[in-house]
Amino acid sequence: MSASEPVLEVSGLTKHFDVPRSRGGGVVHAVDGVDITVGQGEIVGLVGESGSGKSTVARCIVRLLEPTAGRIRLHGKDISHVSRRGMRSLRRQVHMVFQDPYSSLDPRTPVGDIVAEPLRMHGIARGRDVGRRVGEMLERVGLSADMRRRYPHELSGGRRQRVGLARSLVLGPSLLVADEPVSALDVSVRASIINLVLDLQRDMGFSCLFVAHDLSTVEFLCNRVYVTYLGHIVEVGSRDRLFDAPRHPYTQSLLSAVALPDPRLQRERRRVVLPGDVPSPIEPPSGCRFHTRCPVAEFPLCREQVPELVEHTGDRHRAACHLVGTDGRAPDVSGGADPLVHHQT
Ligand code: SF4
Repeated sequence: MSASEPVLEVSGLTKHFDVPRSRGGGVVHAVDGVDITVGQGEIVGLVGESGSGKSTVARCIVRLLEPTAGRIRLHGKDISHVSRRGMRSLRRQVHMVFQDPYSSLDPRTPVGDIVAEPLRMHGIARGRDVGRRVGEMLERVGLSADMRRRYPHELSGGRRQRVGLARSLVLGPSLLVADEPVSALDVSVRASIINLVLDLQRDMGFSCLFVAHDLSTVEFLCNRVYVTYLGHIVEVGSRDRLFDAPRHPYTQSLLSAVALPDPRLQRERRRVVLPGDVPSPIEPPSGCRFHTRCPVAEFPLCREQVPELVEHTGDRHRAACHLVGTDGRAPDVSGGADPLVHHQT
């Protein structure tokens, strides 16, 4: 494996679900042709509203879901349709942290055994060595040694998520897929978990795909960001480019809802409120899937032609919108009002 080889390459990932006839029939187009790369040591964000398909992408990558089409490569190896046996060695390289720390831990198993389970299952450690490694891992996630005898229901939400992180990282995976790991937590403990993920990543060097709907978290944590809408990637760029000068109208609307630390800028900024909800993925809109809610859609162009994800300025910042200029200039969704663009202080 070369130093520049991506840890994860997802290309054309598609996941459809059949809806039973008893519930009206049809096909849910949860994810359609998604491309994502995660480099070594990168923390990459995947953001979008609920229903955008981001969690489905995460579950396909860790093979909790079978992709309908497309390819998933881990360190260059195709894992798209890996067998059950192949999954075993895969689990050593890629692990997932779930959104809900309450339901992702077995309530009848003490913390020490929860964290030890991957070590035993993969035959990585035996006897006292298991206890030593569990103790080290608990310490890394900020939990004391006496936690190993406690049960999940005895712990706060933040501590349970620390246990979830310890279990996911005890094998030293090269890729961590984190599916909204802080959204079920109290606001007061979110920051501590986010800081912990950042510290652990620096310390252990794993790559991370961080799925979230909260843009502030993504801005703090991630090097690059993908924005999803109704199963498509609509924009991708470095954190700075994407947050300072978003190009896609959907990204602009998401960022306009993020509270700014400067009260003056917050007062001046105009929020872009999108009409309606995300359309049904059973019958996604034609052309640009965002056209039914886009404040600057042009017809019939946007209804009839699917926009490609295009890099306009040679800086790996890409957007899928017919109205982005050849120089990368974004369409103005603010209606000429004051700054819409996000300013981080
Ligand atoms: Fe809006 Fe059209 Fe751009 Fe889609 S392609 S985001 S509908 S302007």
